[in-house]
Amino acid sequence: MTMAEGDLDTQGWQVLDRAHYLHPFTDHAGLRQTGSRVAVRGEGIYVWDTEGKRIIDGLSGLGCVNIGYGRRELVTAAAEQMLELSYCQSFFKTTHRTAVRLAEKLTSMLPGHLNHVFFQSSGSEANETATRLARRYWDLEGKPGKKLFIARELAYHGSTHMAASLSGIPPMHYAGGDIPLSNVHHIRTAYQYRHGAGMDAAEFGVVAAGWLEEKILELGADNVAAFIAEPAQSAGGALCPPETYWPEIQRICRKYDVLLIADEVVMGFGRTGKWFGLYKYGIEPDIMQLGKGITSGYLPLSATVIGDRVADTLIDKGGEWAHGYTYSGHPTCCAVALENIRILDEEKIIENADATLVPLFKAGIESFADHPLIGDARCVGLMGGLEIVKDKKTRESYAYEAHIGDHCSAEALKRGLAFRANGDTMSLMPPLITTPDQLAEIFAIAREALDATAKHFG
Ligand code: PLP
Repeated sequence: MTMAEGDLDTQGWQVLDRAHYLHPFTDHAGLRQTGSRVAVRGEGIYVWDTEGKRIIDGLSGLGCVNIGYGRRELVTAAAEQMLELSYCQSFFKTTHRTAVRLAEKLTSMLPGHLNHVFFQSSGSEANETATRLARRYWDLEGKPGKKLFIARELAYHGSTHMAASLSGIPPMHYAGGDIPLSNVHHIRTAYQYRHGAGMDAAEFGVVAAGWLEEKILELGADNVAAFIAEPAQSAGGALCPPETYWPEIQRICRKYDVLLIADEVVMGFGRTGKWFGLYKYGIEPDIMQLGKGITSGYLPLSATVIGDRVADTLIDKGGEWAHGYTYSGHPTCCAVALENIRILDEEKIIENADATLVPLFKAGIESFADHPLIGDARCVGLMGGLEIVKDKKTRESYAYEAHIGDHCSAEALKRGLAFRANGDTMSLMPPLITTPDQLAEIFAIAREALDATAKHFG
């Protein structure tokens, strides 16, 4: 501490923040004009700031605080683990019981072939592991030409070089680093509102999956290592595929011997109303990534779960695989993950959310279809998107420079709701412990924010 923190008011914190703290995904020149909101405390679905204002976290942080803020059991689990064994590396024929327990627990919750777990600290790192592993697998299988990755437009897979390359959000590619790397190719995503007008959902799902087959044929199946996708896209704007999409994607991957990588960093641990998105959509991935909800955001941890096919080759033919992180399997993070999973399980938080909250959420999201600004209202589980358009008939969007989504976010924040703009799509991902009354409040504020935005732009 370099200053008497007790003496600082909001402005004081904002001055220090501006002077020293570079934030992720932030226009710092803009931030200098407005200053940051300074959060101080969280409990349940609420966060309070230095002004004493209570904000409903309609986004579960960044899609991670699934069991809500302030669960003491997680604090106790962390403290006990730190006192017992605060750190343990796993590189040199060493292991520790908490990571082993967590690896076993995760595999027991997943389909039978997903038997092996590699730990990292973030979703981006999990995607590095998954893609390095896919390349390694094909090298060991004597197919070193299979080097290319196919990902989707509007995807978000993280911010390291490879993860940002896999991401299909254009500003990320202008952000420096010569990305996307040349081994990544993008296809259109299952975004029916923009790419499937006039088709019914089932038909569109098959058409959208066909874009993968076209790309594999264009690149040559012998050159393609893997296809990577989220079960439903979160940061891309709550893009939820029709039921016909994933079975077809799976069939295409098998047909051309392309590995299927499911990024469940957001969807895992209940976001779709099921424990994992693969149960919602019937996906059988070769590799899947978990993060965020694995600890409900209390500590950083991610897991790359690896199917027998890939793991057997790595183990039987691979020798040493020179890949890993200092904090792979960090004991404290693993202890918190185990406790988080215990709470989710024993309190039936996901099952209860699926039974009571998900239908209310769906009805709430769909009720915005009549709003003059909303062109499309879509959701799966507890992830919803309301796409703002200028003209509902032609589906024309507002000009990017209008930043209408950001305007709506600001209107919601004024009224005490964190309601995020992904481009022009307003996203909601409330904690799984939200009550029906709290959900009603979220939708009421969201509507007020949209009404105020419509008035401003009208
Ligand atoms: N994958 C998905 C689907 C994500 O949404 C994110 C982050 O939002 C990541 C990966 C990257 O995770 P992290 O920010 O922990 O690196």
